[in-house]
Amino acid sequence: MINWGSIVVELTEQERIRYDRQMLLRGWGEEAQRKVKAARVAIAGVGGLGSPVALYLAAAGVGFMRVIDHDIVNLSNLNRQIAHWGTDLGRPKVESAAMKLTQLNPEVKVDAVNEAITLDAAKDLFKDVHIVLDCLDSLGARMIVNGECVRRGMPFIYTAVYGMEGYMTSIVPGKGPCLRCIYPHDSPASSKFPVLGATAGVMGCLEATEALKYLTGIGSLAIGRLVIYDGERMQFESVALKRSPTCSVCRFA
Ligand SMILES: [Zn+2]
Repeated sequence: MINWGSIVVELTEQERIRYDRQMLLRGWGEEAQRKVKAARVAIAGVGGLGSPVALYLAAAGVGFMRVIDHDIVNLSNLNRQIAHWGTDLGRPKVESAAMKLTQLNPEVKVDAVNEAITLDAAKDLFKDVHIVLDCLDSLGARMIVNGECVRRGMPFIYTAVYGMEGYMTSIVPGKGPCLRCIYPHDSPASSKFPVLGATAGVMGCLEATEALKYLTGIGSLAIGRLVIYDGERMQFESVALKRSPTCSVCRFA
């Protein structure tokens, strides 16, 4: 839970109109919307997951978004990475995403960082945000995010897709397992794997929902619970996750 203290931001008349429907949500109102406006998030990866996450958080009025990616837009990205269009081929993904996000919502400040997630970079990239959205596609990069977030006591949302399946859990250091508790062993660097764009859309929307719940304090997060989406059978299930007493990352956190 974020201690917002006294939130200094106020909503403009235009913002009251723009966010009218979500402010009708139970427990939301102007107060939650002011929190969303004051919120700062980092989105690690603006590909299949990062696209819907960034678009929905921008639409919801998150005040500051740092989007991080070091790739350029390729034709084979366009089946699922909906922030990037045919006119963006060859552009850095963060530049392409920043343009769409500011067109969708000019009130949102976007910091486009064209960098890979490394141990060093993570220290700076996550230091001034409230939450990190893991929209990456390799376990190695995710573990860098996990290590830095545990060190900072910073929550992050883990989300992954494979084919028509998706996985999501909210990791709040000290309150539940970290990613290393769940995946104690490294896996080989992932080669090309199947993804249906709509699956990334479903999972990105779950991830954006969790982030907004955390920022506003509304609802309860999927801490210690892996939400599994099976698009083939069209079923969701939830599996309990436990903190590992021998975890190499969060044992002393
Ligand atoms: Zn752990």
